[in-house]
Amino acid sequence: KNLTVDDVKRLINDRGIEMIRLEYVDLNGVNRGKLLPADMIDVVFEDGIAFAAAIMAICFDNSVAQVKGLSEYYDDMKVLGDPTTFTILPYLDKTALLLGDLYYHQKPMRQSPRWFLKNMIKQYNDMGYNPITASEIEFFLYNKVENGDILPYTRQTGNAYTSNIRTDPQGFLNKLTRTFKEMDFKVLYMNHEFYPGQYEYNWSHSPALRNADETSLFKGICKDIAEQNNLFATFMAKPKNADGGSGCHFHISLNDLKMGQNIFYDQNDPDGTSKVLRNFVAGILKHARALTAFLAPTVNCFKRFQPDTFAPYYIGWGNDNRTTYVRIPEERGKATRAEIRAGSAACNPYLALAGILAAGLDGITNNLEPPEIVDSDLYHDAARQTEIVPKSLYRALAELEKDEWLCRCAGEELINNFIAVKQMEVEKFTNFVTDWEWQNYSYHV
Ligand code: GLU
Ligand code: MG
Ligand code: MG
Repeated sequence: KNLTVDDVKRLINDRGIEMIRLEYVDLNGVNRGKLLPADMIDVVFEDGIAFAAAIMAICFDNSVAQVKGLSEYYDDMKVLGDPTTFTILPYLDKTALLLGDLYYHQKPMRQSPRWFLKNMIKQYNDMGYNPITASEIEFFLYNKVENGDILPYTRQTGNAYTSNIRTDPQGFLNKLTRTFKEMDFKVLYMNHEFYPGQYEYNWSHSPALRNADETSLFKGICKDIAEQNNLFATFMAKPKNADGGSGCHFHISLNDLKMGQNIFYDQNDPDGTSKVLRNFVAGILKHARALTAFLAPTVNCFKRFQPDTFAPYYIGWGNDNRTTYVRIPEERGKATRAEIRAGSAACNPYLALAGILAAGLDGITNNLEPPEIVDSDLYHDAARQTEIVPKSLYRALAELEKDEWLCRCAGEELINNFIAVKQMEVEKFTNFVTDWEWQNYSYHV
């Protein structure tokens, strides 16, 4: 996938590409971009395409947070295409997608989630390590029905791990999977999840930046293809009270940059796991509460963290244990890895992976030891229950703000911007009267 600018131009010519969708991912994890005729390609690589920089301070409802040095006088930022990300979109006519990097005042934009991840990868590279990651993302799919309402794509409970015509009545998942194969995504396979209309896609491992790019693009493309088929897909973490949530679990290992072997594996260790793996996990657990702000970045995400849901509730790690924040799957050798289960489908994959790498880095550089491994059901083993994941975005942001290590890794500009946008979201929600309040209070109080 090491495409150069010349490769991209040649592909545009050879494949008759007429339109380019130039995209970047904002702090909220929203794929934003502009649609350009292909003859703009030189501008995309040389000068970049301008966007109002204040878009980085925007909430889901269009309100703009005040961020020092960003939204003062509504100036421009630039998006410059990254040729390695060029992908033809097989479901559109003569159209290709290109991801870009953000520049502000001629310099890499410090608020950009993709730069944060690139910087973290570089810090690992400088130590001789290459972070290898794989994601698994869950989402809900709905049929659009006449009056603007939606109904789950499948209605039956109990369809987990089935794949038949009844769990894909319109052949949508089949179409979606084939599209990602054609686009050369590292998508391995998919399955129906526990709840009606809920699905999961799994990736095979790749370098962290590619994995973050693909996971981010996946969401937009999945929504696109759903739209084409009169369906609706959502990655919100907990869409319905009656159903479980949607996670985005991340599997991490570190390869030796020169030799390529997985340094999380140690054949001389009785468990097959290396000291570096244990240091890494120790860093994740030390920063787990603050890290939740990146892994669960919306008000809604915190409703997913409940006991008995396979989403974490108490913080801990375990061997092939799905009740913990970090699971060490049983595979060893080159597949030795840590799975971070706290990620929500609604997360921004760049911030999530960068945050995970930052937390792990503290463990490795400062030789931290993890707490005792949990070999029981952590949802119900009171003796092992220590800390709980923060149960609201408000708390998670407060944890992030006081976590000096994570703030330093992310940089002041990104942290200030992220926290300003997210605090605004918290405040809007806190002031909003919900159905639950009416149902519980109106009669009795
Ligand atoms: N849906 C669960 C979550 O919210 C994960 C279920 C699974 O292990 O696949 O993370
Ligand atoms: Mg799952
Ligand atoms: Mg998983």
